[in-house]
Amino acid sequence: MKVRLVLVEPEGKINMGFIIRLAKNFEVDEVVLINPKFEIDDEVLRFAAQGKDYVSKVKVVNDLDDALEGLKVCTSAKVSHRDPLRDFIVPWELPEKVGVPGVLTLVFGRESVGLTREELKKCDLLLHIPASSQYPVLNLSHAVAIVLWEVWKAYRLNKANLPKPATQERINLVMRHAKELLERFVGDEEKRERLLESLKKLLSKGTDLEVGALLYLLGKCSNVLGLEQKRKE
Ligand code: SAH
Repeated sequence: MKVRLVLVEPEGKINMGFIIRLAKNFEVDEVVLINPKFEIDDEVLRFAAQGKDYVSKVKVVNDLDDALEGLKVCTSAKVSHRDPLRDFIVPWELPEKVGVPGVLTLVFGRESVGLTREELKKCDLLLHIPASSQYPVLNLSHAVAIVLWEVWKAYRLNKANLPKPATQERINLVMRHAKELLERFVGDEEKRERLLESLKKLLSKGTDLEVGALLYLLGKCSNVLGLEQKRKE
């Protein structure tokens, strides 16, 4: 799936820098600016930090129509259940509502006045980040961050560094050591069963490293007590 970001008449260089950085963070395929109110200069690049090479993916056009492609999703802080142009979905509903579009184009409005009704008409959907009803208007780059993160979570999480769960083999080894130790120290069979059940639940939540540490410790205990030896005989 191709993810595209369209910014309509962006006004702030700092926001632009942050958005270029975000485009790199979340591997946006293309960024299109409609009539930006500034030049992309050193100040923008300073805020893009190590995302500054992504500037090569930024295109500038004059007309919104030239930037729209695939499934077009406009974004706004201003929504309504009564106005069809301002009826909306929330970011985490995207995969359920639209599946996996070939091209997803996310459209963001001006810092000062957002998107016009004419611009909203050009989109297939309106996406709203629900926030305080007292003040639901987010800073442009913050809104971009939230939407890109939701899109990343829904479609591209497999590209990221994620926790490594313990392997079943390691969990089984810990359970075997625990069972032997309990048989040695706890006479009551029902109590042993209950403890093993709790341990099994705990292990299922552990990372590979955490379960590995427990395995090491229980392995040492078994060795010292000669349980390992006893099993081999
Ligand atoms: N004063 C403008 C504010 C625009 S904020 C207005 O009232 O519309 C700039 C852009 O950030 C918006 O056009 C929209 O693309 C995005 N944005 C800000 N808050 C948002 C929210 N709660 N949900 C979705 N997009 C939001």
